Amino acid sequence: MSEPIRSILIVGGGTAGWMAAAALQRTLGPHARVSLVESEDIGIVGVGEATVPPIRDFNALIGLDEAEFMRETKATLKVAIVFQDWGRIGARYIHPFGTFGRGPTLADFQQTYFALKARGLAGDLDDYSVCARAADAGKVGERDPDPRSPRNSLFTAYHFDAGLYARYLRKVCEGRGVERIEGKIVDVVQRPEDGFVDGVKLEDGRILKADLFIDCTGFRGLLIEGALKAGYEDWSHWLPVDRAMAVPCASVKPLTPWTLSTAREAGWQWRIALQHRTGNGYVYCSDHLSDEAARETLLANLDGEPLAEPRALRFVTGRRKTYWDRNVVSLGLSSGFIEPLESTSIHLVQSGIFRLLQHFPDMDFSRVNIEGFNRRLGREVELIRDFVILHYHATQRDDSPFWRQVKAMPIPDSLSERVEAFRDRALLYQVGADEYFSQGSWLAVMYGQGIVPRGPNPLYAYQNAHKAAAGLRQLSDALARTVDGLPEHEAFLRANNMWSGET
Ligand code: FAD
Repeated sequence: MSEPIRSILIVGGGTAGWMAAAALQRTLGPHARVSLVESEDIGIVGVGEATVPPIRDFNALIGLDEAEFMRETKATLKVAIVFQDWGRIGARYIHPFGTFGRGPTLADFQQTYFALKARGLAGDLDDYSVCARAADAGKVGERDPDPRSPRNSLFTAYHFDAGLYARYLRKVCEGRGVERIEGKIVDVVQRPEDGFVDGVKLEDGRILKADLFIDCTGFRGLLIEGALKAGYEDWSHWLPVDRAMAVPCASVKPLTPWTLSTAREAGWQWRIALQHRTGNGYVYCSDHLSDEAARETLLANLDGEPLAEPRALRFVTGRRKTYWDRNVVSLGLSSGFIEPLESTSIHLVQSGIFRLLQHFPDMDFSRVNIEGFNRRLGREVELIRDFVILHYHATQRDDSPFWRQVKAMPIPDSLSERVEAFRDRALLYQVGADEYFSQGSWLAVMYGQGIVPRGPNPLYAYQNAHKAAAGLRQLSDALARTVDGLPEHEAFLRANNMWSGET
């Protein structure tokens, strides 16, 4: 066994940096020194507002109190994303958390559903999802771990202010002994013999040394790209949106427990209700829309008074060719970016952290271990990429050059295979343990975007249709009763001491 890692320097203090600091400090305790360097002059991106349910596992790992976390970050709950005007103008569908149907059974829910639907014996898809029903009703509640309960599938995530989340994690980390160093890095010092990073040099001349460096410097990728030249795989031919214009506006009640994504002329607009304000942004393709036009469209489509000047952000969808190189692991925006349509960036930070803990190195930095990390995280990112591409490609929209472009573009083989399997006989599958999105997610988005299977698997023609239809009816009734009994979103937050006290 080689020497253990004794010191870790996290470079960058945005959401990624402080998440990494919290998890590493919590896991390593006194066995390694965890420090973080950041520059207030540079600041953070801080626009991430929507998350997915596994963030609960992350917050549990680092020992956060949920009610305190929600008050500190002005968080609300999220049960779904509502997609407006995506498949075609005027169409709306819900991508809920959790499953459709009764959860894991041997039979695929969608096969029964489409077999019965063809005979007029099934309702709307959303009738069979507790989260879709809760979204429609504006309700939330506690998930029940009992698999027989209709609330077993009531998964929730958070909407929060990412800037406040980073600030809150900083407070928690500093209280637990993580050292924060203020300073601007001007150079990266590498060992001449093998290129390992030895230290980072600050503007004031100090050199900060460590055994392991976590690059959380945002789009800059100061260590992974600036020093180690990992290279960037550009995916903008599949995901051509490359700009965002973001602005908060005054809240409008009731407080919706879902992210709204409205497709627009050259991209889409998000709307996210937090406790103290509503976050909005237009994510668009600069080949098809000017910044000024995006700004105008955004401001013309707000629920309430804008609370700031719109802020412009630029990005290139893609990923670092290597996430972990030598003694540098990149997390967050420094490792790549998939645009925020399915709220996956903060999730990928978390996934990178969990994988780093699984693959935690010692001082020999075994190549097999590093390659395993890169391969598995890379696979997860590619599968998310395919899922996001699906939203753009599977559309009937042809009302603007942008939509005509994405509708006609070639897509990855891995995605077309899945789309064809669904179109042919409603077949859905999950690729493996590295895939985040479930069959239920693929079902919601494929069907929601307008892909209708030619028919179900022929075996489902043999089922007793009336018995199966009665089963669906029972389920739908049970979910309706469950959601009727849930509290309204804001009432739930207030009753559970999650409300920050403002407004
Ligand atoms: P940053 O926030 O950019 O932090 C970089 C850090 O590095 C800062 O502390 C900075 O000071 C430091 N730094 C950089 N250079 C130096 C230097 N030379 N010296 C010292 N320090 C330095 N994610 C979601 O999950 N959900 C969403 O809804 C969502 N929406 C988004 C919308 C948009 C338009 C964009 C662009 C992103 C969105 N994201 C979303 C992504 C999310 O914002 C990021 O994944 C998350 O904030 C992590 O950012 P980061 O910490 O990697 O980088």
